[in-house]
Amino acid sequence: MRTVSGSTDHVVVVGAGLAGLSAAIHLAGRGRRVTVVEREQGPGGRMGRLDIGGYRIDTGPTVLTMPEILDDVFAAVGERSTDRLELSAVTPAYRAIYADGRTLAVHSDEQRMIQSLGEFGGPDDVAGYRRLRAWLTRLYRAEFDRFIGANFDSPLSMLTPELFRLIGLGGFRRWDRKVSEFVRDPDLRRVFTFQALYAGVPPSRALAAYAVIAYMDTIAGVYFPKGGMYSVPRALADAATAAGVRIRYDTTVIRADRSDGRVTALHTDSDDRIDCDAVVLTAERHRSHELLGHRSRRPARVRAAPSALVVHLGCRSMGPRAGHHTLLFGDAWHSVFRDITSTGELMSDPSLLLTRPTAADPSLAPTGRDLLYLLAPVPNLERGHTDWTDFGARYAERMVETAQRRLGQSWSDVEILRVVTPVDWAARDMLAGTPFALAHSFTQTGPFRPANMIRGIDNVVLAGGSTVPGVGIPPVLISGRLAADRITGTVRAGRNTEPDQRLRTMSGPEPK
Ligand SMILES: Cc1cc2nc3c(=O)[nH]c(=O)nc-3n(C[C@H](O)[C@H](O)[C@H](O)COP(=O)(O)OP(=O)(O)OC[C@H]3O[C@@H](n4cnc5c(N)ncnc54)[C@H](O)[C@@H]3O)c2cc1C
Repeated sequence: MRTVSGSTDHVVVVGAGLAGLSAAIHLAGRGRRVTVVEREQGPGGRMGRLDIGGYRIDTGPTVLTMPEILDDVFAAVGERSTDRLELSAVTPAYRAIYADGRTLAVHSDEQRMIQSLGEFGGPDDVAGYRRLRAWLTRLYRAEFDRFIGANFDSPLSMLTPELFRLIGLGGFRRWDRKVSEFVRDPDLRRVFTFQALYAGVPPSRALAAYAVIAYMDTIAGVYFPKGGMYSVPRALADAATAAGVRIRYDTTVIRADRSDGRVTALHTDSDDRIDCDAVVLTAERHRSHELLGHRSRRPARVRAAPSALVVHLGCRSMGPRAGHHTLLFGDAWHSVFRDITSTGELMSDPSLLLTRPTAADPSLAPTGRDLLYLLAPVPNLERGHTDWTDFGARYAERMVETAQRRLGQSWSDVEILRVVTPVDWAARDMLAGTPFALAHSFTQTGPFRPANMIRGIDNVVLAGGSTVPGVGIPPVLISGRLAADRITGTVRAGRNTEPDQRLRTMSGPEPK
């Protein structure tokens, strides 16, 4: 594995999002002096916090999976995540509601899922699910350490027995096709393929290898931290500081000094010069290249993932039976993906993700109120034709109406707290106005995804969603560790790769 050459005593990490914090903690645990520079006033990046009118709003991710990867990060400095975070399993992981009124509670626990399928479909669905579950588990085991959690120096370094195992499992076939070998009911299939949207590719085109994301949420389970998702970066930043990492907030890195193929210092907007032996950059790839004065040699332009419009809203409390994560499916399915990834249209028949964090932690909203988060996939600014300037608020209202219609209920006393459109993501430097960075197409996967080291610059490593292994909380935490490995060489604590099924579950009655 290629590593940074020369001295690596002082490492400067640009960005205190999850990737930067993970890199900083791993490096501190390996004895490096680490300085993190973050332009915002606090940690988290996309996993941020907004306080409006007594609501504590998580601005980014809502679905937390694979908490054992977080455990690894804390363990790098001798800590346990349970000392800093109180996670509960979200049960069921999702509730799916279809346009014809069918509903399905999606449980990660096998027996509960089988019971749920008994009510939704029939014995064929149960048998298919059992086989799908076994396949997804084998896929995860085949991929995790060798492909998701490893650095690649070239496509050739993938030629290992594990690659042939992955081929044997059908990992290079199409996700949708592969799942249909197990699950006949197209409605049920959506529950194990909608995650392709997280990868930014339609399930009919995505590699089946990415079905590992369906493993993560439908089998390994979904979690929620007390205090909201923002508790995660907060806890990581606290652990980093306790381990001696210096974090400088409110400071933007604007330029790098380069000499003999190395970055020797970074300059900030407060006229500081920070000398460094090595650098980890977690900004979006195009911004990192600009900072370095580097031009990509990639023959083709990178392809951005679709974007999302997010509506944060409050309403009168719906009572304890309303769910935490609800998938609101329209009738249309394949055309939804075509709309947002190819033709650049808004979804003609929207499918939405509704999250009610107050299901797990009522303190996130004023007393008697619920906090809701509605995510509508939309085309990114390169594909799409929408002028979001005035239309964002109108589209948000339309999506709020659609959500209530699909749920078959009206929320009372609704207040829209914030609408975030692709233009807002673009204003925060995000490529093509998408918060989901580069799509995980075949040519942007594994050794073909933009690598985390740049030829010609010996002491800089990239981390975060635009490089390997990809987008999402688990991948970017891993990307931080992969960046640390490039600096110090690989250090393995010997983690158990089996996700632990945490016993603590959300209390309260089952959602309807
Ligand atoms: C709306 C939304 C929903 C999502 N849903 C999910 C989900 O449910 N589950 C999931 O797993 N993932 C989800 N994700 C994806 C996940 O949040 C991201 O992949 C991840 O948080 C990205 O982390 P990062 O560290 O790579 O980047 P960032 O969080 O963007 O961190 C980069 C940091 O670098 C800082 N920075 C940039 N340039 C400079 C500079 N020049 N100087 C100093 N600082 C700089 C930025 O301010 C930022 O804090 C979602 C994301 C969004 C936005």
